[in-house]
Amino acid sequence: MRKPLIAGNWKMFKSLDEVGTFADDFIPGVSDIKDTDILICPPYVYIQALAQACEGSPVMVGAQNVFWEDQGAYTAEISAPMLKSIGADYAILGHSERRQFFSETDETVNKRLFASLKADLVPIVCVGETLGQRESGKTFEVIGSQIRQGLKGLSTEMSATLVIAYEPVWAIGTGKTATPEIAQEVHAYIRKVITDLFGSQIAQGMRILYGGSVKGENIDALMAKDDIDGALVGGASLEAASFERILRFKG
Ligand code: PEP
Repeated sequence: MRKPLIAGNWKMFKSLDEVGTFADDFIPGVSDIKDTDILICPPYVYIQALAQACEGSPVMVGAQNVFWEDQGAYTAEISAPMLKSIGADYAILGHSERRQFFSETDETVNKRLFASLKADLVPIVCVGETLGQRESGKTFEVIGSQIRQGLKGLSTEMSATLVIAYEPVWAIGTGKTATPEIAQEVHAYIRKVITDLFGSQIAQGMRILYGGSVKGENIDALMAKDDIDGALVGGASLEAASFERILRFKG
């Protein structure tokens, strides 16, 4: 019922030449994949080139953030309509690195969410607890609050395309993956919160991705879980062969 989505988050990596080499290596190898949505979110400056390289292939391109105003005197910001006009279809919002290093809050995630939807970008809203929050038994409280505040004011109709990514902060870029059981427990909780907010039809259709040191060695066990509908992949999406292996998960 839910089509899996595997999304690569390239963060601030690659030169333009390396983007071209990746596209040449990766796109032909995944052109047969139809039953999983494939997404790559490169740095802003490569979105247009990568989107052009991906034309006619199943690979979609997204942004790693958006600003909430359409235009104006906001030096260095990039708006949702701008991203849409150069080929982006998705936008990652509220990534923990944005929260940690750039003062992103649930309130600013909420503004970016409305801007993305207005421009027809599919938002991927990231939530996740820190190690300290998990160890002090606050995981569900933190995740529930991030979702309720981040999605505040969203109508049931607008929530239909939304994607949530559960990314425990302690598992991002650390090599420590949440066990499939830990991830499933939080994904089931997220689906319950979404049910409370928008009803069971929306919740049952919503894709909830897991992110945090996903790689070829752990993707199959994660995808075998009922409420895990895909992955947000950092490091392992930078290399064509390792990202393709993740896309060809069994589970
Ligand atoms: C991420 O950046 O969203 C992420 C999950 O990174 P990594 O896969 O490298 O842990």
